[in-house]
Amino acid sequence: EHFLPGQTLENQDTSKMIAKLNANENPYGPPAPAMQAVKDSVNGGNRYAWKELYDLIGKIAKKEGVTPDHIMMGPGSSDLLEKVAIVLFKDGGNVVSADPSYMSLMNVAKSVGGTWKAVPCNDDWTHNLKAMEAAVDKDTKLVYICNPNNPVAMITPGKELLDFCSRVSEKVPIFIDEAYIELAVGADTESMISLLQQKKNVIIARTFSKIMGMAGLRIGYIAALPTFLDQIQDITRGGMGIAYTSIAAASAAMDDKDFQDNTRKLNHEAKQYLYSSLDKMGYKYIPSYTNFVMFPISMNGKEYLSKMGAKGVMVRSFDMRDKTWCRVSIGTMDEMKMFVSALQDLT
Ligand code: PLP
Repeated sequence: EHFLPGQTLENQDTSKMIAKLNANENPYGPPAPAMQAVKDSVNGGNRYAWKELYDLIGKIAKKEGVTPDHIMMGPGSSDLLEKVAIVLFKDGGNVVSADPSYMSLMNVAKSVGGTWKAVPCNDDWTHNLKAMEAAVDKDTKLVYICNPNNPVAMITPGKELLDFCSRVSEKVPIFIDEAYIELAVGADTESMISLLQQKKNVIIARTFSKIMGMAGLRIGYIAALPTFLDQIQDITRGGMGIAYTSIAAASAAMDDKDFQDNTRKLNHEAKQYLYSSLDKMGYKYIPSYTNFVMFPISMNGKEYLSKMGAKGVMVRSFDMRDKTWCRVSIGTMDEMKMFVSALQDLT
């Protein structure tokens, strides 16, 4: 049983509750107008949604300051990460990315015949852009950058990243996965979408799964040069996998700025509570610019997950730099209290 809107620790039998903090979802979604849009649009579900999709593409293009032929939609950004990997690496070649990073694109690249050139992050978990540039060789088909980076929650400074993308994209396309960028407001980073206006060969991935609270409704997009998208479209088909109802929901969610602001605010508050609780318990975390936090634990990952799971708390564990780490997504304040209490019981 998950937390539902209006539920609190006080009014529930917590022995049956689950705090699902393992997939960096938004606990407050979907936005109410998006849910209404799903209901209102379901009657149209006997038709393909091409017109509605093109309307949504137009709306996104306007927001991003590009023409509609720069946008390709998919059922979640995962679909587009995979499509790009399939098309670019079907004849081999390598992808350069940070290690650790979000592995979806690299895993598909490897499975269709590409290789992964991993460049360790700097000591502070930022991207080592210098080393990444040096790693680009004649077989490199793509550089992948996740900003903010999953699973470490770190940003790469905006100016440095702009310079890097601007220069290196002259040699090889650069894919910037900005799944969490809306949660990094006020931090020293920015979207790379402006580079498209300068006709740079960059691909920017965005999703409705995080700030928009619609992970299960499956919708996302990439913005790229029309020539790059043609290359993807020749082999795969953008837009075909998205449900009629999700398109309506996405359009409604884009207009609900209050929902997005509220998500940022509540995410910030619950994260501050988590930080102060971890401080008190002596855990050293990586500063987070997203809706999840990483900190090292002194227990085997499997054992940790099973102990936390027994308390109804679902998190993830990672092995990095000879340590085991817990990645906990930021849920509601009550879910974070449940997490902190389960963690306290361990120590
Ligand atoms: N990119 C990053 C960095 C993610 O963390 C995720 C999901 O957690 C995704 C992409 C995929 O999201 P979706 O397919 O829901 O758009």
